[in-house]
Parts: sequence; structure tokens; C-alpha cells
Amino acid sequence: MIPISEAIQIVLQQTTSLGTESVPLSEVLGRILAEDVIADSDLPPFDRAQMDGYAVRAADVARVPAQLPIVGESSAGAGWHQEMKAGEAVRIMTGAPVPAGADAVQQVELTREGNGSATVEILEPVKEGRSIVRRGDEIKSGATVLRAGEDINAAMIATLASFGYAQVKVAARPRVAVMATGTELVDVDQKPGRDQIRDSNNYTIAAYASQCNAIVNRLPLTGDNTEELKREISEAARTSDMVITSGGVSMGIYDFTKAALKELGAEIFFERVALRPGKPTVFGRLGKALVFGLPGNPVSVAVTFNLFARTALRAMQGATHPELEQDTAVLARDLKGSNDRESYLPAVLRTDEKGTLLAEPLKWGGSSDFVAFARATALINLAAGEKKTAGEVVSIMRLPA
Ligand code: AMP
Ligand code: MG
Repeated sequence: MIPISEAIQIVLQQTTSLGTESVPLSEVLGRILAEDVIADSDLPPFDRAQMDGYAVRAADVARVPAQLPIVGESSAGAGWHQEMKAGEAVRIMTGAPVPAGADAVQQVELTREGNGSATVEILEPVKEGRSIVRRGDEIKSGATVLRAGEDINAAMIATLASFGYAQVKVAARPRVAVMATGTELVDVDQKPGRDQIRDSNNYTIAAYASQCNAIVNRLPLTGDNTEELKREISEAARTSDMVITSGGVSMGIYDFTKAALKELGAEIFFERVALRPGKPTVFGRLGKALVFGLPGNPVSVAVTFNLFARTALRAMQGATHPELEQDTAVLARDLKGSNDRESYLPAVLRTDEKGTLLAEPLKWGGSSDFVAFARATALINLAAGEKKTAGEVVSIMRLPA
């Protein structure tokens, strides 16, 4: 049995980069950036009006009301490119360039046009610089605005678009084969017969892997039969970057996944982790493919996928932060870890009326209780033998949303 931290180190060591591809901007949401993004212009690219109103010189409207001739109009996309002189005003719209000579924009609500729109009356003084964003105030041309290894979120799309990234260099998508094993399993569209259950792991793992940008190949269900397992795993390993099996790795006499991997000549890096739930997790390599043999219990699958397989998939894509985000929270109820292993126990995060982040351990029936686990938003991490009481600070990992 190896400690979790060591298992994660091994996963990171064995993971190699998949390379990159150039993808249209409309398709990069959720992908991992493989290039630094550089501003190709100042932002804003010119002194920009932040309000609809009148460009003026603040000194000219220190005493109000002040009547000024309107000498031009600057609108977004069609600026007024002459020098505005003392005592003059230019009608201006949000997003339009501020003319040279003006040093403030007074908002339209504090003005009144007169004389058939030939003049404007400024009703309130305005401070120099008011409602103007100076060229380059937000970003200077040449600045690095996003870095390789970041997850591209929806807000970053604006940055990419604004600086002309019609095509974006991102990490290539890992090809992941997912394979549930167990003679008791039937597919989701079947009515389980006597002694049977529906497979859920294939779909769970596929869903989690998709969230890591994987191209998922969900393989047919495989019974507890070494020859069948060998055939399916070796075929999957040939055509995938990663194979993820579930089931058949514990100590039962029909647990054949490890035997199949070993007979195929897979290199096994670890096969037992000091983790609850998820002790019998297997990690190895077969040919070029990394192989994770996850336990069969659905909650163990969720925990071990997120600790190990997710980390590998994200590291393959050059993620700056491949692991789950760590944080701390205040425990809402007493909680006891496993005696001999580190525990990752499902919890719901919420804030109390003082704004303190609380981790509420889920009431669950153990590692088969996937219905309870569906509410979890984080895992509480306890060391072997650790006991914590309500009010103590605990370390947590946020689960992907
Ligand atoms: P195993 O690791 O194969 O001993 O399986 C542990 C438990 O998880 C058993 O109760 C299995 O029936 C259950 N299990 C295994 N595979 C799946 C699956 N794909 N979907 C749902 N439950 C499963
Ligand atoms: Mg089994």
C-alpha cells in the first residue's frame, strides 16, 4: 500500500504530453491552452468614452451652467478626428474615441442641447478624466494576458477574440477507452435479471473523462473472465492514450483485471493505495497506453478517477494545475477517518451566516452509495486514524462541477 501523495507523484511521472492542435475559437471552451496569449494592441486601442454625453474640457465647465458650441460628433466606429478647442464640445457616444483637446466626458443626463442642436448646456461640472478610459489603461500591447496550461473558461473567450485568436493552440484531446467489468452487469437499457445490476461506472467515467476533454470510447461490458478481459484491454490499449477499467481489482476469486494486465505484460506502477474509498486502485502501462484499474464500487470510482485519472488526463494536456483544487473549510459535524488509510469523504460545502465555509459530511451508506454521492461538492481529507470534531478546520478538495 502506498500513500496517496506518492501515487499521485507516480501518475505525474508516468504521464507524457500529448501534443497540441490548432482549434477554431468557437470550439475551445474547456480546452487547455497550449500557447501564451499576447495582446496585439493596446486596450482600449484609443482614448475611449465610457458614457454617452459630451466631450469637453473640464476647465470650461467649472462654472455651470456653461453653454458650449457643438463642433462635431464622435460615435463608436466613426470618430471625430480634429482638435477640439477651448470652449467647444463634441457630442460623443459610449465606445467612441475621445477627440484630442477634450479631457472629460459629461454624461448626457447632466446636459441639455439647444439652438437646434448647435449648442449644449452643461448643467454640472465634471472632473478631468471623467468617463474616459485612456489608451492602454487596461492592457498594453505585447502583454501576456493568458498563459499556456490554463483552462479556457467562458470569460477568457473575450480575451482570445479581442486579440485576434481566430485559431487557438490547445492541447490535443486524450483518447480514453472505458471498460466496466463484472459478470453481474447489464447495460442501462436492460432490465436486470436475477443477481444482476445495471452498469453505471461506464457512464460515470465517460462523463468525468469528457470533462477532461477526452474523446471517450465506451467499450461493451466485459464479464469476469481473464481471456475476455485480456482481449478487450489489449485492443483498447492499442488505440487509446488511456484505458480505464472498473471492477475486478479487489481480493475476490473472480477479480481478474490485475491478472489480465499482468498476463498481457503491462508494467504495474502501483496496485494498492492507502485510500478510503479506493484502496485496490491499479495504475500501469500497456504499450503506449496508461491503464487505470479502478475499483467497482461507484463512489470509489468517482474518488479514484478524480484523484488519479483526472490528474493524468490533465497533465497529459499540460495543465498548470492538474490536480483537484485544495482548500480548507470548517467541519460542520464530527468526522472520523479510516484507521489505516487516508480518507476522502464526500461533503457538501456551504457558507454560514458569518461567511465561514463549512464542509458538511454527507450521510452516506459507504462506497456503493452513488445516490448520496451525487450531492457531494467536495471531499474531506483525513489522515489515517484522524478524528475531527465540529468546528475544526479540515482540508478539502473541490470536486469538478
Ligand atoms: P468489484 O470491485 O468488481 O468487486 O465490485 C465492487 C462492487 O461494485 C460490487 O458490488 C459490484 O457489483 C459493483 N460494481 C462493479 N462494477 C460496477 C459498475 N460498472 N456499475 C455499478 N456497479 C458496479
Ligand atoms: Mg466484480
